[in-house]
Amino acid sequence: MAPAEEPTAATLAPPPPHFVIVPLVAQGHTIPMVDLARLLAERGARASLVTTPVNSARLRGVADQAARAKLALEVVELPFPAGVDGLPPGIENVDQVTDNNHFIPLFNALQRLAGPLEAYLRGLAARPSCIVADWCNGWTAGVARSLGIPRLFFHGPSCFYSLCDLNSVDHGLHEQTAAASDQEKFVVPGMPVHVEVTKATAPGFLNSPGWEALWVECVEAMRTADGAVVNTFLDLEDQFVACYEAALGKPVWTLGPFCLANKDAEAMASRGNKTDAVQQSAVTAWLDTKDTDSVVYVSFGSLVRKLPKLLFEVGHGLEDSGKPFLWVVKEPEVAAPEVREWLEALEARTAGRGLVVRGWVPQLAMLSHRAVGGFVTHCGWNSLLESIAHGVPVVTWPHFADQFLNERLVVDVLGVGVAIGATAPVMIFDDENMPVGREDVVRAVAALMDGGAEADERRRKAKEYGEKAHRAMEKGGSSYENLTQLIESFRQRGGKEG
Ligand code: UDP
Repeated sequence: MAPAEEPTAATLAPPPPHFVIVPLVAQGHTIPMVDLARLLAERGARASLVTTPVNSARLRGVADQAARAKLALEVVELPFPAGVDGLPPGIENVDQVTDNNHFIPLFNALQRLAGPLEAYLRGLAARPSCIVADWCNGWTAGVARSLGIPRLFFHGPSCFYSLCDLNSVDHGLHEQTAAASDQEKFVVPGMPVHVEVTKATAPGFLNSPGWEALWVECVEAMRTADGAVVNTFLDLEDQFVACYEAALGKPVWTLGPFCLANKDAEAMASRGNKTDAVQQSAVTAWLDTKDTDSVVYVSFGSLVRKLPKLLFEVGHGLEDSGKPFLWVVKEPEVAAPEVREWLEALEARTAGRGLVVRGWVPQLAMLSHRAVGGFVTHCGWNSLLESIAHGVPVVTWPHFADQFLNERLVVDVLGVGVAIGATAPVMIFDDENMPVGREDVVRAVAALMDGGAEADERRRKAKEYGEKAHRAMEKGGSSYENLTQLIESFRQRGGKEG
């Protein structure tokens, strides 16, 4: 009989901490949480990404790569609730919605995932160390509480935005703006810098009519969480991180820019929707022919869908700017035959100088290409941070949600952006009346790309923040060390038997 094995340090070592990550089913929320899962797994933790079948299919590339790299990163699929009032079958992601009336039913459906999530967690051999849930998934709070699992909320935007939002609620800003005219300016209370908003650009998600119950649930879930995880870094906004942490009264873990978890082309291409490999190599080959920092990259994130009127303004503006441009348009934006024809004519007129890509591009691969020297963006926080992390200054064209305050941060505080002049939000599928025209595109692109003292200073600052972003993610950097602390704090708590 073989002698019983002596326990060794390795066999006695506690299991790695297990993080269960529950993203909101929208690309701008899922992509950073997938990056976070990758970061955790690369540092020896176990990460389980919980989502529904349509979304899990989109994460297949991520799961395959993790398996090849022997990372403890898995995708857990929960069944999507059937028969939800007002939600057409098949819709499991915000980017599939084509009618504003489908958003609330989609969020109602997500709430019904509480039961399946609890069943999955109860079925595990050991209780996970921590749930990290998107703040919009407030329904996860009850599940965590009933199983005694610590919970952090992931807040997608900058700490600058989150602080504006929290202070506005705490100081009653919304009550003050309620009866104001559209132009009246208000100072966001309690901020360490001067921030002005109007009624329309004041902070706040989910606080419009019809969303009240969900908003209350999400705010309560943030209040009862054990802390927050934010995709930012200290050298970018340390004063806002400190104030946000103090106002929240709980730890704020700044671990970003998460996008820098993606080091090679394969990882960059696995983010979000499937990339067309042939199209992608043609785009890269085209960029390779261009001078360093000469191309303007134009993309409005995963949700904005421009109606023809504004799409034409963007196109004419890029044509009239005289600059090389790479413009990403979404398939539904160019579905109508007359729009397709118009676009083909524009491509013919700007051949060699401009490239229009239809569908999805791996944005990180674009922003990290040496030829891309400016980005016309809708100011989604991921897009802004990805641009900053790669030293690329921006033209800011906010559309809705946190985007107007993200603009204030990059233009007024960080000094890396030129505002195009959008003054009020638009509905998600209705930007027809936005008062931005081709001449605004020409002016802003010229200010960004033409050189001169202001443009040079903007570019210098963007490059400096880009270097700081990379340093934050390296060993010894603030985000790297924060991640070490986060993992260690949950390792010490240990995974109890479920
Ligand atoms: N994105 C991409 N390719 C595209 C469009 C978007 O890779 O063609 C990614 C982009 O890099 C970012 C995310 O989708 O990570 C969009 O998030 P953001 O917060 O900028 O905007 P949202 O889509 O939430 O409005």
